[in-house]
Amino acid sequence: MKIQSSPTELQAWVKKQKKQGHKISLVPTMGFFHAGHLSLMRMAAQYGSKVVVSLFVNPLQFGENEDLASYPQARAEDAQKARLVGVDFLFVPENEDLYPPGFQTEVMVKELSCGLCGQDRPGHFNGVATVVSKLFNLVRPDYAVFGEKDFQQLAIINRLVEDLNMGVKIIPHPIVREEDGLAMSSRNSYLDKAERKTALCLYKGICLARDMFKQGERESSVIISQVSKLINSSDNTKINYLDIINSRTLESVEMVKDGDRIIMAVTIGGKVRLLDNGLLSE
Ligand code: AMP
Repeated sequence: MKIQSSPTELQAWVKKQKKQGHKISLVPTMGFFHAGHLSLMRMAAQYGSKVVVSLFVNPLQFGENEDLASYPQARAEDAQKARLVGVDFLFVPENEDLYPPGFQTEVMVKELSCGLCGQDRPGHFNGVATVVSKLFNLVRPDYAVFGEKDFQQLAIINRLVEDLNMGVKIIPHPIVREEDGLAMSSRNSYLDKAERKTALCLYKGICLARDMFKQGERESSVIISQVSKLINSSDNTKINYLDIINSRTLESVEMVKDGDRIIMAVTIGGKVRLLDNGLLSE
């Protein structure tokens, strides 16, 4: 596995692979790999014959009071894990490799970036869309794999690729969970033992919503109110948002239909903001 920070080296390597007839899959990440990330990499290998993983904690997508400085990192372990999964190129740029002096372009996907996480984190998705556009331009991948855990991000990337004719096939990957149901996340490492237990309320909320839907409840507000109650009854939790949305437009629904999605961000212990979502189906 090659490990490089230089965009030029990456481009040269990609050019060579393409000349040899390889199809390239890209998996953009911020590192601190867990089994979810590794599963995305394995899926990437099922599509492309060469897999590029980028590891970059993108400052553009963090707000001023967010956890950019403390975002968990484990470079050596990450490289080892990626190697074992069979990644061909691990791209680990520094800030100045992607944002040299004079950089001033921002990519914005308008409506889809406004609600949900976009409301809590103004500018976040412009940072995501900008870095992903750069990665797509550097790698020109045939495929790119994104997790459904960040469901709004996935919708925004799909829109971006279509709107700007980027010609990358976006492959969604289902949410990978711990055995008890907690969605895997690098930020789970911030949780202490008690908070880790509390964090299960997100998944329990999704299960409750699914049960209610299966039993015939169709009023979004009724489901949301029950799920809110469940989450609020857990210790030291704050719901940032909780909604039932159309999976394509991300718009709130009043009456829930098969294929809609419950989606939430919940802060645990006053500091760890976790995301989760789940499909509602009959
Ligand atoms: P991150 O390093 O958190 O930016 O995530 C990199 C990619 O992995 C994104 O496409 C995420 O949606 C995806 N991802 C992170 N955690 C999970 C998970 N538990 N299940 C599925 N995909 C995930």
